[in-house]
Amino acid sequence: MHTLLPTTIVGSLPKPSWLAQPEVLWSPWALEGDALREGKQDALRLAVQDQTRRGIDIVSDGEQTRQHFVTTFIEHLSGVDFEKRETVRIRDRYDASVPTVVGEVRRERPVFVDDAIALRESTDRPIKWALPGPMTMVDTLYDAHYKSREKLAWEFAKILNEEARELEAAGVDVIQFDEPSFNVFFDEVKDWGVAALERATEGLHAQTAVHICYGYGIKANTDWKATLGSQWRQYEESFPLLQRSSLDIISLECQNSHVPMELIELVRGKKVMLGAIDVANEQVETPDEVADTLRRALSYVDAENLIPSTNCGLAPFPRAIAQRKLSALSAGAAIVRGEIAQTAQVAS
Ligand SMILES: [Zn+2]
Repeated sequence: MHTLLPTTIVGSLPKPSWLAQPEVLWSPWALEGDALREGKQDALRLAVQDQTRRGIDIVSDGEQTRQHFVTTFIEHLSGVDFEKRETVRIRDRYDASVPTVVGEVRRERPVFVDDAIALRESTDRPIKWALPGPMTMVDTLYDAHYKSREKLAWEFAKILNEEARELEAAGVDVIQFDEPSFNVFFDEVKDWGVAALERATEGLHAQTAVHICYGYGIKANTDWKATLGSQWRQYEESFPLLQRSSLDIISLECQNSHVPMELIELVRGKKVMLGAIDVANEQVETPDEVADTLRRALSYVDAENLIPSTNCGLAPFPRAIAQRKLSALSAGAAIVRGEIAQTAQVAS
């Protein structure tokens, strides 16, 4: 692995068409039973191969074995009734029919651990695994039991910690929590969001990351982004809190977004997973465009803390586009790595 500017992706990659309908988010499986189990494992190995062949250093499963970044995890818990559905407003942005919390939530068995073992066996590179964050889980459900977002988040944090510890034991190097809700519910982030996230990471030796984003390029998200003005300063709310937190890595989106780069200064000292690949635009970045984004970020983050990444998941793209974006990411990182090496040589 490159010790400087190791590349990674936030999480998802497109699934092969024989596993699920392509270019659709959260599309249903095309296989069943044993064939589905085998198909998911095959897709996971392909995702690893695509990443390693295209120069990605910290490899993920491409989320090939899950349908939805939050719901798939919740499906494995008891206390949630998927038949009993209520319509709620997700992230204050769009209405969705969601399952209901009807009793105490519990993880009866590991959720992703077998998949993480399969990922561990398929590569010698460092691996990263994504879990939903407690606040984002709460925001994807109707709660008829705890009747408190904070209480439910705390229960989820304990469950996530159990899962994370087992992922770590399976050889996962980086455990990432996806918390897009942190860009929406600022008061709750302050009151209990960061605390719940820290509870989820308690006792871990693996590196811990939090991914906060503006979402996939779906209409509800692009409409919302259009209301945010010329400067997206949402990170300003959570970053100072995260800077003081126990989390190791903070992920943000910078490619074609209106996030002012100087906000990175707010998490000085942390590692920064910097989105240098747009997930809402099929136009493939050139290596120079990626390099330019990384160079601008280097004014606010030390090179040894910079992890070039994607803005968010690549799932909605045609596979060929996603693959080319992986190549652009690693080629852009290589340019900047070369420049840093050259500067170091001149200086010595
Ligand atoms: Zn995201």
